[in-house]
Amino acid sequence: MILFVAFFVFALLSSCETKNQTIESSRNGKLKVVATIFPLYDFARQIGGEDADVSLLIPPGTEPHSFDPRPENIIAANRAEIFLYTNNIMEPWANSLLKSLRSPKLLLVEAGKGIPLADEHSEHRFERASHDPHIWLDLEKAQKIADNILENFISKKPAKRELYQSNARKLKETLADLDRKFSAVLKTCKHNTVVHGGHFAFGHLAKRYNLRYVSASGFSPDAEPSPQNLVKMSKILKNEGLKHIFYEELVTPRIAEVIAKETGASLILLHGGHNISKQELDNGTTFISLMERNLENIKVGLQCKQ
Ligand SMILES: [Zn+2]
Repeated sequence: MILFVAFFVFALLSSCETKNQTIESSRNGKLKVVATIFPLYDFARQIGGEDADVSLLIPPGTEPHSFDPRPENIIAANRAEIFLYTNNIMEPWANSLLKSLRSPKLLLVEAGKGIPLADEHSEHRFERASHDPHIWLDLEKAQKIADNILENFISKKPAKRELYQSNARKLKETLADLDRKFSAVLKTCKHNTVVHGGHFAFGHLAKRYNLRYVSASGFSPDAEPSPQNLVKMSKILKNEGLKHIFYEELVTPRIAEVIAKETGASLILLHGGHNISKQELDNGTTFISLMERNLENIKVGLQCKQ
């Protein structure tokens, strides 16, 4: 499919990409960045500040695990100077898409480079796969992502080094503050188990704050949970006296609803940050604001004192 799309795009690029676009890009002077998922987009926007023109490859409201690049995405990536993706597990299509790009000025950046994916923490049956791509949900690893983005911005545009460094410092301080807040709050909770009626997205977060994490399905929202797993989740909710079951963003919380109905628990959102809705994007939602809301919801779900 990708090869076909690439061929199609070659033809399209030859006919559509006019000199005007090149002139426009150099006149504006901003670093042109395309980021696959929301946290990368948000970090790039903050680090680049007034000097970057950042766009989100996966349209707002789209669940990214099941995303398939379209010709217009390849065209957008071809016009960028930096293409940011998380890792080969999160965006398995990235490699083939990148092969079809032909722009010599484009720098391809694996934002999760150097960050281990293995998750030995979970008791979950998906543990065996042990390649949890959701590294941005660990607020320490999120700082490493910011560093990787910063390094590549500087290598692309050394003249803006100070601006990028200063913006990245602010972002990392905010992430570090929130990380400390999570640690402090999560030490004061009555419960320690996050029962999540979604896909396995919070392994890194749970590991960071010593939480027990149980999800309905594996690393992708497409995976169907087994009936045994749903029974196990209901049992944990009942045995531990949990009054809330978490659900995920952007997909219908079918599983969480079934378990909630069965156990009398209430639904509460735990946002994986992968992507946001068009409305949230327009409202200026940031990754930090999503994580602050997550902390508030975890406080409710686990009955934390602070
Ligand atoms: Zn996910």
